[in-house]
Amino acid sequence: MSLLQISDPSISNDDLKKFVVGIDLGTTNSLIASYDNELKLYEDNSSSLIPSVVSITKEDILIGVKATDAFDDKNTTCIASIKRIMGLSYSDIQNLDSKDDLLLIKSKNDLPCIAVNNKEYSAIDISSKILSHLKNLAETHENKTIDGAVITVPAYFNDIQRQATKNAAKLSGINVLRLLNEPTAAALAYGLESNETGSFVIYDFGGGTFDVSVLTLEKGIFKVLSTDGNTRLGGDDIDNAITKWLVNNYSFLKSYKTTQIKKYACSLKESMSNKDSSSMDIDGNTISLSKNDFIDIINPILNETFDIVTNAITESKLSSIDIKNIILVGGSTRIDCIKTLLEKKFSCGVLNNIDPDKVVAHGAAIQASILSGNNKENILLLDVLPLSLGIETYGGLSEKVILRNTPIPIKLRKTFTTFKDGQSKLLINIIQGERELVENCNSLGEFILKNIPPMVAGGPRIDVDFQIDADGILSVSATETTTGNSSMIEVKPSYGLTESDIMKMIDDSNNSAEIDMTLRRLNESIVEGKRVIYALEQALQNDGKDLLSEEEIAMVNDELEGLKLSITGEDSSVIEEKIKQVEKKSEFYVERRMNSSIKSFIAGKGIDDIL
Ligand code: ADP
Ligand code: MG
Repeated sequence: MSLLQISDPSISNDDLKKFVVGIDLGTTNSLIASYDNELKLYEDNSSSLIPSVVSITKEDILIGVKATDAFDDKNTTCIASIKRIMGLSYSDIQNLDSKDDLLLIKSKNDLPCIAVNNKEYSAIDISSKILSHLKNLAETHENKTIDGAVITVPAYFNDIQRQATKNAAKLSGINVLRLLNEPTAAALAYGLESNETGSFVIYDFGGGTFDVSVLTLEKGIFKVLSTDGNTRLGGDDIDNAITKWLVNNYSFLKSYKTTQIKKYACSLKESMSNKDSSSMDIDGNTISLSKNDFIDIINPILNETFDIVTNAITESKLSSIDIKNIILVGGSTRIDCIKTLLEKKFSCGVLNNIDPDKVVAHGAAIQASILSGNNKENILLLDVLPLSLGIETYGGLSEKVILRNTPIPIKLRKTFTTFKDGQSKLLINIIQGERELVENCNSLGEFILKNIPPMVAGGPRIDVDFQIDADGILSVSATETTTGNSSMIEVKPSYGLTESDIMKMIDDSNNSAEIDMTLRRLNESIVEGKRVIYALEQALQNDGKDLLSEEEIAMVNDELEGLKLSITGEDSSVIEEKIKQVEKKSEFYVERRMNSSIKSFIAGKGIDDIL
């Protein structure tokens, strides 16, 4: 009833990794991403920026890119910017400065709803449709179900708005690992948590909203010191201002619909980066906008954003000298003069090298990966395992499966096999501690895996899975892979140990590392010696008399005696030498056995059965 290890956890770990994602559920656009050493964004029709739009027709509900394609269709109700009313009551919305084009009705409990085709949709319903769409895109791409998600929300969202976001996720079958503030997500994407301390301003200029947050970093955790913003200030306002300017300067545009001119304005704006002017052709007429005119148009809007930054810093009780960096987030920060103006005004470094559209989803994906335990290097905000965990293998050795200081939760697998022919049971003894020998570690519990089908030693594959959840609960299961028979046990790993017990165990292990390694090598060579003795004795019993002469049997037995004697000693190199010698001297026997088994396989079969 003993074990031999035959594979390393690193080999099978990938299959066990949880599939977790970060979701930036934006007002204009949403993104879904995963992070495993690098960022992977999932796309809707080749675009990772997925419009937060739901279009409802008589027959169908379209979401994302397809929903925006249906925008001009008269028979379709297009719902955009739903995030603006997330978690608000009907009365709250009546008090907003300006209302969107959403046709809202007052439903039960003062809940605002959109009525389409005799059905009512709340903000939670619409958001959950967007989330289901995002989930679907990622799951289809990976061909896996999502185990959990980190979803970002504005720092100013109150409890009701946060709860509404969680409910939307629940409706779409997403397990929320954590809601994360959008500015904190951006800071994580830039790796700012690796700073010792520092204060940062997140400047988030999106499609319809402008948000500023001042964050401070203390002991690896970001605290939001203040937030400010304008929920009616964004790229849309820039588009409107350019539209006005275009109509004043190009009279032929007077016959065009405002929505159409606004689309031209938006493309002029978006193609302005790093250029002196941008222009386009409209039905044979050229419209063009110079950089200078563009700056004149947007100046009042930019100045308003800078005033809000100043207010947020004042409110955080810091001054601009305390700010280490300003981080740019949101599509509208692509306007290139924003960076230079901010640098000049606040005299600090402005970070914009991560795509401002993706930086929030990027940070959320990193956070999801950390929370799931997939990202081993980063131990931010996480608990770690105080002592290594493993199982006892043949010879009283501890085989570590999860090493000390690994962030939890985590799931790892090692594969083992049997030591003896026909072995039908395995004892799994769970060991905690750093030492090499089981007798110097703690046993946390044991269980038996039964009904292993009879096979030769080394034949069965037994997968042993260790899983520790976020609360530190360990479950260990063992599965024999051909039959799928499995057994398991649940324990609390640090149970009964105080902080000083743990420190003592680690100290002991450091002090005895060298002795332990010598002992481990000795034990391993003894195990290997016993395996060789066992295999040869079994073989001699089976066919020794048929395949060997008496002298040959005596010679093999002599060699076996020598090996048996060596394993009673304490020198691993002597044992290793003896093993090599026995294997060399019995090589001819192994060869004869192979030939004979091929012969017996061929016997009684026609040539066609064999070739
Ligand atoms: P939200 O956070 O509100 O969902 P985004 O961060 O996706 O919004 O930003 C969308 C806005 O970014 C739109 O108004 C879009 O026109 C603007 N935008 C995208 N690219 C550029 C660009 N190159 N220059 C200026 N504005 C841009
Ligand atoms: Mg955004």
